[in-house]
This record gives sequence, structure tokens and C-alpha cells, in this order.
Amino acid sequence: MSFEGLPPGSASKKRSFLESIYVVEVARGLAVTMRHLVGNILRTDRMPTMQYPEEKRVYSDRFRGRHRLMKREDGSPSCVACQMCSTYCPADCITIVAAEHPDPAIEKYPASFDIDLLRCVYCGLCEEACPCDAIRMDTGIYEIAADSREAFVVGKEFLLNNTTDGTR
Ligand code: SF4
Ligand code: SF4
Repeated sequence: MSFEGLPPGSASKKRSFLESIYVVEVARGLAVTMRHLVGNILRTDRMPTMQYPEEKRVYSDRFRGRHRLMKREDGSPSCVACQMCSTYCPADCITIVAAEHPDPAIEKYPASFDIDLLRCVYCGLCEEACPCDAIRMDTGIYEIAADSREAFVVGKEFLLNNTTDGTR
């Protein structure tokens, strides 16, 4: 057997009888574990873990959370259904159906605007590509859970009602 790389004396150190039966060493290991366990229970404020979901981590302003669609003053979507975001999306997860806008000053609007959140990689290219600042990822929402695949495909109304406070 080669002892190369071990600290000097490691190979020749002889175990005592108590060390060789491991009972005392196991007890010492358990004592260390219990010391940390009790210490953490008594001083939860010093624990590095968070009490999620009561306590939530604050992410930086640059954090990209779930998308939202911006609104005009009348509450309609700012989006003009130009398809720039869906064209740039590397995950191909944005599906927009464009329709003629009743206002002749606005060419089109999204009749439907769906994002498949399971396919999204949160790269932010959609908001960078948008010429109208109509889609943002500044909601701060990172709790994205559902019990079916279909529920992860979010539509226009859902995206219009997302807000920046993390509560939709
Ligand atoms: S964040 Fe990236 S992957 Fe997700 S919808 Fe936008 S462009 Fe597509
Ligand atoms: S969100 Fe922006 S980029 Fe996407 S279709 Fe609407 S206007 Fe175009």
C-alpha cells in the first residue's frame, strides 16, 4: 500500500485499542453533531439557512423573475404583436397570435400571448428585443410551481396582471 501524499507520520501512527474499536470516536462524532444541533436550535438567528417560506430571500434588482406584460393607460397591452420577442427567444417558448387593432394609430395587438414557463430559460432576451418595453421580467417572482404541465403555459391576462411585488 502506498502512503504517498499523506501527512508525515500518518502511515506509521498506531491506533490505540479504543480508537480501533471506534466506539469512542463515534461518540465523539455524535457529540459534535449534537453540539451544533442544539446550538442552532437555540440561536436560529445565527443559522445560515432561511426560514422559507416565512422568510424570503431578497434578490438584486437585476434578478429576472416571471414575466409581465406592460399596459397602456387604458389598460390594454402595450405590446404591438411585432413578434420580435418570440423570434429572439432561444427556447421558442413564446407564442403570439396577432390581430388588427381597432385604433388605426396602432397596427396590431396580441389576440393571445402565451409563454411556456417550463421551456423558458430566463435569459431576458425577450425584454431586450422588445421595441416597445412591453414585456419585462422585473416581477421578482421566483416561486413558479404548478401541478400540471398545462398550468405552466401562462397567457395574456395572467401576464398583464403580474405585478412587481411578487404576488402576481
Ligand atoms: S426569458 Fe429567454 S427563454 Fe424566456 S421567454 Fe424570454 S427570451 Fe424566451
Ligand atoms: S412583447 Fe414586445 S417584442 Fe414581443 S411582440 Fe410585443 S411588442 Fe413585440
